[in-house]
Amino acid sequence: MSPSHSPWSEPPLRVLITAEQIAARNAALGRQIAQDYAGEDLTVIGVLKGSFVFVADLTREIHRAQRELGQSGSSVTIEFLGLESYGDETMTSGVVKITADLTRPIEGRHVLVVEDIIDTGLTMAYLRNNLSTRHPASIKVCALLHKPARTIQPGPIDYLGFTIDDLFVIGYGLDYQQRYRNLPYIAALE
Ligand code: 5GP
Repeated sequence: MSPSHSPWSEPPLRVLITAEQIAARNAALGRQIAQDYAGEDLTVIGVLKGSFVFVADLTREIHRAQRELGQSGSSVTIEFLGLESYGDETMTSGVVKITADLTRPIEGRHVLVVEDIIDTGLTMAYLRNNLSTRHPASIKVCALLHKPARTIQPGPIDYLGFTIDDLFVIGYGLDYQQRYRNLPYIAALE
């Protein structure tokens, strides 16, 4: 079928953060995380689906930084947690359902939760509470994006990629109706 027959009409996109900007920020975050967890084993928990690209790039930057810093002893394990929030397309309700749970206990582990975007903060507050009942040694949060204008439930973001305005963004893991996750940049849907 030719593209002109596609039932999907493409909404206009505006690139906000280029692939190069994301890569540079990931390298800096990876270095900071490697330094902070020097000598410790770390469990990275990616929140699905939106964080899958960020987790893949960030964890490889952590590895690169560990190698450069000569930290051969520190191991990184990677887990994913599937979350679905009840709400409409543009607003979470704060009521969250775990659709895919961790495959290993995190008791006694240093945990770094990796999120694509923190919007109202309700999802992260839920997640932090849920994970702390499993008695990890520590919990920190790394978010690629943060929209401070929309905060309802403030919480610490230990590592942050970029602060953005109150825009609906897609790409680099983030979707609109399950599309656009594979774009290499972050764009605003106009
Ligand atoms: P919060 O609970 O912080 O309001 O929402 C977090 C979740 O809402 C994110 O993990 C993401 O799935 C979704 N979300 C919030 N803002 C955006 C956005 O601008 N674009 C996309 N694609 N998802 C968003």
